[in-house]
Amino acid sequence: MPELPEVENVARALRDNLTGVRLTGLQVGFAGILGQSARKTRSALVGKVLTDVYRHGKYMILWFEGDDGSMEYLMVHLRMTGQFFILDDFVPDKHVHLIFEFDGLDVHYRDIRKFSRLDLVEDGVAPAALAHVGPDMMKVRFSEWHKRIGSRKAPIKSLLLNQGIAAGLGNIYVDESLFLAGVHPETRPCDLDSETLHDVLKRGKHVMRLAINHGGTTFMNFRNFYGKPGNFRRKLRVYGRGGQPCRDCGSKLEKTVVGGRGTVFCPECQALST
Ligand SMILES: [Zn+2]
Repeated sequence: MPELPEVENVARALRDNLTGVRLTGLQVGFAGILGQSARKTRSALVGKVLTDVYRHGKYMILWFEGDDGSMEYLMVHLRMTGQFFILDDFVPDKHVHLIFEFDGLDVHYRDIRKFSRLDLVEDGVAPAALAHVGPDMMKVRFSEWHKRIGSRKAPIKSLLLNQGIAAGLGNIYVDESLFLAGVHPETRPCDLDSETLHDVLKRGKHVMRLAINHGGTTFMNFRNFYGKPGNFRRKLRVYGRGGQPCRDCGSKLEKTVVGGRGTVFCPECQALST
């Protein structure tokens, strides 16, 4: 599933390639991924110029401006398997549901599982549809994040995955951040001092920044805009490495379940503090 770094890469690619380009057509194969009808979506967007792509957590909002200055915003949530492709030699298959025609350049939107969602929203930064989503993990300040998480009694792993507290972290980067901060995934934030919590946030931001710079992590279906897999996977310290030796201390990494999610951690480097 694409997480914040993967979504950031897609947002950057859309911005780099399409800013200032007019949407001249929109072909809709499967309208079930659209929040509004194909007709409504088409009439809102076609003829307008893409002016920016804003990212919040795992959501992207594409900004379209009309010649009269009117704005339309298309919010995209890739969910499990949503992908944009901008390849000259891309051959559409049955999983391509939308083709955005950008002034002669076809951008294909593909989604094998069809869980993704593209909605027209009323605001380019803070639409009502995002009201339940917390601040972006890359941008949130420690003081605000600490207010939201510091006194909580649930396992820290579950809280880091809770998009209402802060948006963007998913299973991969949560396991990586907790390993780097030396924090057991079942620790309760209320049992941690603020210095340690600060470290968790810092490591989380750091690991996501690294992943963004490596094009994201590829698992199964994520491909970036250019059809290339991300190459961050081999940098991962714990995620997907259960049963293998810890790269820091050599202990066997343990695999467990926290809050219903598969979790890998090092029993030595991440001892449970209570
Ligand atoms: Zn270790």
